[in-house]
Amino acid sequence: MSRTVLLNPGPVNVTDRVRQALMLPDLCHREKEFTDLMAAIRAKLLRAFDIEEEYTSVLVSGSGTAALEMAVSSSLSPGRSMLVIQNGVYGERIGKICDIYQFNRHTIKLSWGEPPNLEDIEKELKENPDIEVVALVHHETTTGLLNPLKEVGELARRYEKIYLVDCISSLAGDEIDFKSIDIAVGTANKCIQGFPGVSFVLLRKKDLERLRKIPERTLYFDLTGYHKAQEKGGLLFTPAIPAYYALDVALDELIEETVQGRVQRYANAAKFLRAGFKDIGLEFLIPEGWRSNCLTGLRLPEGVSYEKLHAELKGNGFVIYAGQGILSDNIFRIANMGDINQEEFQRFLKELKTIC
Ligand SMILES: *Cc1c(COP(=O)(O)O)cnc(C)c1O
Repeated sequence: MSRTVLLNPGPVNVTDRVRQALMLPDLCHREKEFTDLMAAIRAKLLRAFDIEEEYTSVLVSGSGTAALEMAVSSSLSPGRSMLVIQNGVYGERIGKICDIYQFNRHTIKLSWGEPPNLEDIEKELKENPDIEVVALVHHETTTGLLNPLKEVGELARRYEKIYLVDCISSLAGDEIDFKSIDIAVGTANKCIQGFPGVSFVLLRKKDLERLRKIPERTLYFDLTGYHKAQEKGGLLFTPAIPAYYALDVALDELIEETVQGRVQRYANAAKFLRAGFKDIGLEFLIPEGWRSNCLTGLRLPEGVSYEKLHAELKGNGFVIYAGQGILSDNIFRIANMGDINQEEFQRFLKELKTIC
């Protein structure tokens, strides 16, 4: 029997090599075996993205949102504000984290799938010197829109702001220019091709001094507290051990494939799928030129409900993904993250065509 192909944006299909890493003997996380593994993962993350010189990394157990909450809650100095750009669920999530921590925030709120206007961002930066951090979601997984990472980053740099980017669904899937990024958030189980349970923050070493002055606001998600412990080869809380072992192997594979190679593989897969969607006559949510390499948002065809589409595809071994919130009745999403081969993509398009 063939395996289930996951066309949802994480967790993703992993290779057998990554899966085998889960077969572990009993072990204690405070022993050298595990602290060595953590050090190796932290170094491999920086090596994979070629940012060893200027960045450091922090690992946290939990899904991507754990690292996101850690980065957002720990990066704003008292009395300053965060500028949050929102055009989907995940931008709104950053706003929600700000609200929970009672941060002052300025918000550029757009409709889902609408790209931000750089002049509007510049206006906010010019008018509000209280802004210290600019937060953006790189790939807004709600729609498949790729936000203008570099352009917003150049603005943040020009106005001397800290640039915090949720790269959870784009790291290793879309091209990322780290030059303007100060804090990047990622997870093991999307384009990195590991298992869920561990996520991470990549941050500039030169920002550590500023970050350390920020009072601790959370016990479990204190960024500099984790950094300090991990630098010493220690850790604060019990980690999700198997997920770390799998991430270590997933990073070996990423370094072998190279980030560039993986980004290209995903771009090729998206191109192939999109040609198929077009051939079926499906309508795209995001115009060409704004789409990520990792996910395609499509309108549901007339007379086909998401439930029917999902059930029929699942019966044939493919898991697709619904729209979120206001888009849940109108769209469906097809991700091409993970270890999926060409034959599987071909078979998927054939099944989809039959149903549509
Ligand atoms: C997946 C995702 C997250 C985190 O979701 P989790 O369920 O916590 O892993 C955050 N931001 C974006 C853009 C995502 O795609």
